[in-house]
Amino acid sequence: PILENDLKAAIRTIPDYPKPGVLFRDITTLLGDARAFRRTVDEMVQPWAGMKIDKVAGIEARGFILGGAVAHQVSAGFVPIRKKGKLPHKRVSIAYSLEYGLDEMEMHEDAVVANERVILVDDLIATGGTAEGAVKLLQKLGAEVVAACFVIDLPDLGGADKLRALGVQVRTLLTFE
Ligand code: 5GP
Repeated sequence: PILENDLKAAIRTIPDYPKPGVLFRDITTLLGDARAFRRTVDEMVQPWAGMKIDKVAGIEARGFILGGAVAHQVSAGFVPIRKKGKLPHKRVSIAYSLEYGLDEMEMHEDAVVANERVILVDDLIATGGTAEGAVKLLQKLGAEVVAACFVIDLPDLGGADKLRALGVQVRTLLTFE
């Protein structure tokens, strides 16, 4: 991980949110800091600067904020991956595992076409269940998921390794135990 010191200070930790015993890593403080936000977006895309990227897919909701900025940076289109029931046109959907039970996420079926090169973006990877679902959804439509980028990795939960096993390069900027 890079930028351990620089960016870590811009992230706020909220104890017992959304439930007792959880330490929530709040990135709104990073987003609100102009230098930290720009630095984050620059560093997320750094390995893919100058490469052909067709689409950036962002996971609802914080992945939209970062993914929109990343898409602009690499001159790619943006694709939202949303919770079930939010998208108006024809959709493809996939079930993915949450801490307790399953949920579903969706994409418009024409949001990517076969063989497009896609970067996936979210704020944080923990167990990797969410990102794995998103990768499989993109792959279902024939996209080539070149990489997945996150600001924060919780390496103890193994999510990054889960994505690498799907053949996706993983970029994370900082870690929390
Ligand atoms: P996973 O599916 O990898 O276990 O969980 C990752 C998803 O949950 C991401 O979409 C991420 O936004 C959200 N998430 C889980 N814990 C946190 C946290 O502490 N802070 C933030 N900002 N997001 C979290």
